Amino acid sequence: MDEKITRREALKGLFFAGMGLAAGAPLMKSLGTPAAAATLPAEAPWKEAPEGSKIDTRTWDKMGETLGMLGLGCMRLPTLGGGGGGFGRRQALDQEAVNAMVDYAIAHGVNYFDTAPAYGESEVVTGKALSRHPRSSYKIATKISNMGGGRPTLAAGKEMFETSLKNLQVDYVDFLLLHNLQDMAGYNSRFKENGLFEWLLQQKKAGRIKHLGFSFHGSNEDLPGLVDLYDWDFVQIQLNYADWKDMSAGWGGNSKTTSSEFLYNHLVSKGIPVLVMEPVKGGALASVSDGVAAVMRERHPDLTPAANALSFVGSLPGVMVTLSGMSNMEQLKENVSLFTDFKPFDQKEMDFMLTVADLYKSKGQIPCTACKYCMPCPAGVDIPGNFKIFNTASDALTDADTSRKDVADKRKAFLKLYNEQEAGIRADACIGCNACLPKCPQHISIPTHMQRIKDIVARL
Ligand code: SF4
Ligand code: SF4
Repeated sequence: MDEKITRREALKGLFFAGMGLAAGAPLMKSLGTPAAAATLPAEAPWKEAPEGSKIDTRTWDKMGETLGMLGLGCMRLPTLGGGGGGFGRRQALDQEAVNAMVDYAIAHGVNYFDTAPAYGESEVVTGKALSRHPRSSYKIATKISNMGGGRPTLAAGKEMFETSLKNLQVDYVDFLLLHNLQDMAGYNSRFKENGLFEWLLQQKKAGRIKHLGFSFHGSNEDLPGLVDLYDWDFVQIQLNYADWKDMSAGWGGNSKTTSSEFLYNHLVSKGIPVLVMEPVKGGALASVSDGVAAVMRERHPDLTPAANALSFVGSLPGVMVTLSGMSNMEQLKENVSLFTDFKPFDQKEMDFMLTVADLYKSKGQIPCTACKYCMPCPAGVDIPGNFKIFNTASDALTDADTSRKDVADKRKAFLKLYNEQEAGIRADACIGCNACLPKCPQHISIPTHMQRIKDIVARL
């Protein structure tokens, strides 16, 4: 199915998302406590997309592009040691596994591939895998951060862009993003004052950049000023059902408000296509607690928690591409299956997902996406590692009934996982220096949570 998205339709999307979703609260009351919450289905509820089928596309007239609704995020590609890579990580990636994923993706109509110089080997490995296919069969998106050791220069920025082209084995990039813009001060120091932005505009004129945009990690108040700087072709934001109303609400984040709803609606009102990152919140929404999963399963037995999260994003008509950072073929197959003959959520389903968000947040999970922007910690703490362990038992560790056996078991399992970490990387090694605080795009109050974990461990 190819959807043509006009500005008018996108604006319609704004109202669909902005007005109706606000009506989620009453439904929450009717959810109650799910029955048989801990019973997981024996088999995956999805089927692989048939051979020869393609994912759905959307056409963006202003850019003259038709893009698959699902994009392959290349930050968490499979590593030789197993698992996925990540921001700034230097683990060797598994070229053969990446080749297989890229081949499968292209065969099923995925044509958007998103990488960055900051993702370790990702550009090189992605470039190798894609170069085995005709250039017309894929769109490559990469980024330019130019954070360069304190004093970002024009020369450093130019070198970064030229290296990206070399790594990706291309003579132009389809989509270039100013990486991780948070506010005007960052834009001025990294791109404006040194002349790099002007230089990038020249590259665009010369055809070496097809479309120019930025990835945004700031607050609601910081987006409009950045949007008004230039006639951006697209903007990439974090959008998922848990962050729709407020990214930091309930988690003790910083004082600035960021909500996917505001960011999305603002971009749509300006007629700017929205590229979505973290639709599954770095995997956190794929591994929600059993109780939250059961509520979704009761409504959609055919969808996993990850598929529910992706469906929420894909149902918004202003979304250009939903990026998912995939680490293995299984995840890719499930996502391709979902976006093949995609069934968008209607208003009721969207409202329902917001009630799931409330339930998810009430379980006290720390909204870490494991992006590692906060690392390395000067004291050696494995910040995302400790948060992951905490999240395995967040509901049992907060205010659950301690007389229940399942709560006691979860607490024991948490303590075991925590103590199995090397001593130097546990939360109790945190010295509260706050160096990590400004680096977290999720605005997580990291030192506060480290102290919280320390206190819980001491209590247990
Ligand atoms: S506050 Fe703690 S976790 Fe954060 S950088 Fe400092 S020592 Fe590391
Ligand atoms: S704490 Fe923040 S910066 Fe660090 S890995 Fe988690 S989300 Fe990323």
